[in-house]
This record gives sequence, C-alpha cells and structure tokens, in this order.
Amino acid sequence: MTLGGGAHGRINPFNVTAKPIMSDLHEFIRRLPKAELHLHIEGSLEPEMMFDLAQRNGIALPYASVDAVRAAYNFSDLQSFLDLYYAGAAVLRTARDFHDLTAAYVRRARADNVRHVELFFDPQTHTERGVPLADVFAGIAGALREAKAEDGFSSRLILCFLRHLPEADAFATLEAALPLRDEYADLWIGVGLDSGEVGNPPEKFAGVFARARELGLRVVAHAGEEGPPAYVRGALDTLRAERIDHGVRAEEDASLMRRLKESQTPLTVCPLSNLKLKGVDDMRDHNLARLLRAGLCVTVNSDDPAYFGGYMNANFIAVAEALSLSREELVTLARNSFLAAFVSDAERQPWLDEIDAMLRR
Ligand SMILES: [Zn+2]
Repeated sequence: MTLGGGAHGRINPFNVTAKPIMSDLHEFIRRLPKAELHLHIEGSLEPEMMFDLAQRNGIALPYASVDAVRAAYNFSDLQSFLDLYYAGAAVLRTARDFHDLTAAYVRRARADNVRHVELFFDPQTHTERGVPLADVFAGIAGALREAKAEDGFSSRLILCFLRHLPEADAFATLEAALPLRDEYADLWIGVGLDSGEVGNPPEKFAGVFARARELGLRVVAHAGEEGPPAYVRGALDTLRAERIDHGVRAEEDASLMRRLKESQTPLTVCPLSNLKLKGVDDMRDHNLARLLRAGLCVTVNSDDPAYFGGYMNANFIAVAEALSLSREELVTLARNSFLAAFVSDAERQPWLDEIDAMLRR
C-alpha cells in the first residue's frame, strides 16, 4: 500500500498562495468538535508546572531550569520517555496538584475544541510514593466537575494499570479503588493498561481484566504501539478490550486488519507520540492514513502532550499536512472519536450533528 498522493498530492497546482490554504486547514481543524480518548493526565504535566509544583511541595528536581527539562525530551524509545515521565510525576503530591494539572489540561483541550475527554490516570505511579488514591481521584474529579459546570465540558475517567508491574499490584489497585466507585460514579467508567509494552503482554493481566469486566467496567488496553500484532490479538481475545490504544502495528497482520475493520474496534492513534518515540522517523511515513483508508475506526489523540510536542489540534495538523488528509477524512476522524467514546447516544448525537453541519457549509 502507498500513502496515496504524498505530502503535496492534494495541493492545487494553480493556487500559488500556499499560506492561506494552510491557515484554512488549521481553522477547519480548530472548528471541528473532537473527543480525546487517549490522554494520560500525568503526561500533560508541562515543565513550567513541574517547576511550580516542585517548589510548592519542596521537591528538588534533577533539572536546573524549564529549558533543561525540555532539552531532556529527546527520547530514543518508549522506555527513555517513561523514565522521565515517572520522574516528572513525582512532583504530584496533593489533591490540589492533581486538580491544577487537570484544570490546565482542560484549558488546552477547550482551546482545541475538544468537547469530551476519557482521561487516563495511573494510580500506581502515585500510591507507591505514598499519595492516597482518594486524593488522586478527588483532585482530578474536582477539576472535571468544575469544567462540566462551567460550559458542559464532558469527561470520563479510565484507571490504568502499569503493565511493567505484576498483575497482583493491578488487582490491589482495583480493589483499593472500588470503595471510591459510588463517589465517582459520574466519571470513573473503565480500566486500561499502559507503560512499557514489550515483554508485558496482555495475557499477564487476564485475571484483573476479567474482574474489571465482572464489575461492569469498560476495558481498553494499549497494544501494538511497540509490541507486535499478537499483543493486539491478546488485548482483543484475552482482555476483551473495547478499544485498542495505539494499535498501529496491527497493519503488519492482514487478517487482524480485516478483523479490526469488520468489528470497527476503535484505534486511539497518537501521531506525535509515535514520531517522538521513534515509531516512525518522519510523519509522512505514519500509517494513520492507510489504516483510515483501509476502513478501520481510527481516532487522533495526544497521549502525553507535554512530552510529545502538542495537544489535540497539533496532532490533527501534523497528520493532515504530512499525509494530505482530505476534509472528509478529517471529519471522519472527528466523527470516529465520538462514535468510539463511552457515552450514551443522546450525549453523542449533538456532537455528530455539529460535525455533519460543518461539511454542508
Ligand atoms: Zn498512551
């Protein structure tokens, strides 16, 4: 398969004013309503806030300045990123810290016309440092409820297990969270699986995911980011994941591609993340357009935007420009994000109607 047109395939050769085309594209993307389904709240910690929180909590950072932190964002793979990510998360101590982090993400999401987020959080990153799980929930939920009250900003929470730790730790985390379920019934709807993928296959977490499903929680899992297509199959067959986070390596397995097309299992693709973590060397080589054109339910997401160089619209713009996506394809990506969201049809329909109206203009 080819990329279909290359980087400049869709530019009108008779229109010499390239700049307005670009700004039209940016404006079109900005106006599209979107849902974000793959966002780790700890990965939205900007260096400035890292320093503010370190100061507030009296924590010494291994960096002299904001610039030194940014200079460290030069990753070679997933693990090199995770090392910095866990170091940064150490400044998050109190419910107020989690509140402020989440409120800052919401501000950026709103600016990108994100209407709904299904936010991942990693309790184990915090409880192992002695931060009470109740404080993590209270801080994040507080900011999300404020956002809802302010302008209807919609959200859900997905509690993620760290896959580099034993399944017993995931079980303990789930059991520790259950007493909080009623208090956060409006937000906490599911569980996910993240952190270092290779060597930690989905099957390792079969038991805890079975328990989560028994409890009526929705289930998603990272698979096929750095791991092979077999991990995507494992996430589908063993964990019964309803969405696959990333999933880009599914392309290496033709029968898996047919299955994903038939089932319309959503993939939450994160283009800038894949670029920054060297999944692709050049955005023009990213397979998002191929996956989309093969009929899979592809969505665009920002993953850990503070570390990967951009939030929702930056991801949209990066693939739209590098892969020459049409407006119809951009609309499909936005529609998919709402179709793949864990919301009721009554919540979903107004967003879809608004997107459809944009094509008629
Ligand atoms: Zn992720």
